[in-house]
Amino acid sequence: MPTASAFTPLVMPPAGRSEPALFFAFAGDRLLVHLEGPAARVPLLGQAEELGPPVLRQQYLGTLGQIHCYSVELATDAQPPAGMALKGLRQLFGLLEEEFFWVAGRAVQIVNWDRTHQYCGQCGTPTTPRPAERARECPACGLLSFPRVSPAIIVLVERGRQFLLARNQRFPPGRYSIIAGFVEPGETLEQAVAREVREEVNIEVSDIRYFASQPWPFPHSLMVGFTAQYAGGEIRPDLAELADAAWFTPDHLPDLPDGISISRRLIDWFLAKHRG
Ligand SMILES: [Zn+2]
Repeated sequence: MPTASAFTPLVMPPAGRSEPALFFAFAGDRLLVHLEGPAARVPLLGQAEELGPPVLRQQYLGTLGQIHCYSVELATDAQPPAGMALKGLRQLFGLLEEEFFWVAGRAVQIVNWDRTHQYCGQCGTPTTPRPAERARECPACGLLSFPRVSPAIIVLVERGRQFLLARNQRFPPGRYSIIAGFVEPGETLEQAVAREVREEVNIEVSDIRYFASQPWPFPHSLMVGFTAQYAGGEIRPDLAELADAAWFTPDHLPDLPDGISISRRLIDWFLAKHRG
């Protein structure tokens, strides 16, 4: 199996492939993996049909290092063969090698997009794949469909040695994180940052700066991370969404998100800056 390898997205599958390929097979949002003690492994096979469960559709994804990768759609009620399991992607973080985890994140989005764009959204005609790009085309009206990516912002708001954390009502007990939300049509990323902070906790921010971004395949977001400075207002959480929001210092922290997400990277960045 490959170790640290770069993924190259490609659309045209290799002609006459003879070497084994990686098959990222999903039943709904669950990935079919070999479980080996605490580790999970993506099947490396000649053909998708060797996985066991019937293959509904498959898509070529590109290469991880030198190895060709495919996504595969299984029936949502597919049964895993002996020695294998179907696991939700989030459960697999830390079990799969990280490069494989993020390719699986691509794969589930391609599978879901392909399944939901078999018919034209405008005239209902069955669509066909475009040969050289990740798109489906309607042969009757020409409408093109591309995989959807939904941008969302996530922002760490600083106020000296304090930073803003909020508790979503859906979070596990005691868990806090930073403010996040989807970008509205017609909005810049900076406007989305300012609006989300205002809507969720009633404060104003300034000096909005890009930090980093991260694909977030639950189900098809791109998280764009920012830092911002407190510029005014008193915290008043939007109780329709939040259970609480407050300023925290590095010395007194609640339960924080795990390492999978960019929220944790932003928080760790802030803590490192103020603990030094
Ligand atoms: Zn059409």
